[in-house]
Amino acid sequence: MASANGKTRRTHRLVVLDGGPRRKSVGEVWLVGAGPGDPDLLTIKALKALQTAQVVVHDGLVSDEILALAPPEARRISVAKRKSRHSYSQDEINRMLVAFALEGLTVVRLKGGDPFIFGRGGEELEACRDAGVDCHIVPGITAALAAGASAGAPLTHRGSAQAVTFVTGHASQGAEPDLDWASLARPNQTVVIYMGLSQATAIAARLMAAGRAASTPALIVENASRADERRVVATLAGLAEAASALNGPALLIVGEAMALATSGEQVVETLIREAQS
Ligand code: SAH
Repeated sequence: MASANGKTRRTHRLVVLDGGPRRKSVGEVWLVGAGPGDPDLLTIKALKALQTAQVVVHDGLVSDEILALAPPEARRISVAKRKSRHSYSQDEINRMLVAFALEGLTVVRLKGGDPFIFGRGGEELEACRDAGVDCHIVPGITAALAAGASAGAPLTHRGSAQAVTFVTGHASQGAEPDLDWASLARPNQTVVIYMGLSQATAIAARLMAAGRAASTPALIVENASRADERRVVATLAGLAEAASALNGPALLIVGEAMALATSGEQVVETLIREAQS
């Protein structure tokens, strides 16, 4: 091709060499909510994502029944917190997800409940974005919704629960959770506390000190939606004692609408169990 100064400029042509080295295409990460435990509470989208997984990176709250829905050849990696063996740090998990995707694999990061409700899904999403890896989010049924449904207690209710707030009771190293107690103590709202079992005494005391009535109905649901679910109906004053009998994972729910909650020891449930056995 002739250029303005009269010299001939060579045109570059792209040459594709068949069989030559090629860059593997980049895989992708699916952040999938597995719901509260009952496989029937998995969404169809979560199931579809799971069925395409080449690697499943899951935490401890995901049941074996749900893991079994991934292809048998998919590699399963547990990043559950362990007391005795090495637990993966969040940073290690982030790097693992990105590394598998850069290998060209379809990675499903399977989390209990919803990935964006106390699930650290946002950090994993950011790690993928920083690495230029596509990340898709599949929402899941968060534990609070399953707990309310099991107990027959609505989280919002006309006249007695105009709002519902999800908070974490988790606190670092023996400290108390740092929450806005004055706002949570206002009546006619439901407060759902995740990761709050071990802090139940302090949480109840704080709420009452901030003005929430000791008689406010409360509910604790352990293993919501699972075969071993246990529910305890209490009041705010009795929350600590009720919590002491449970091991978790469990939710503490405080609010006037919990007056509708039924405990696990229902006659009907016993009858159903007897009929099934
Ligand atoms: N992303 C999850 C929450 C993870 S934080 C969700 O959306 O549900 C972990 C806490 O969630 C546990 O300590 C417990 O408070 C709660 N939790 C998770 N699964 C539960 C279940 N099946 N029953 C009761 N509480 C549960």
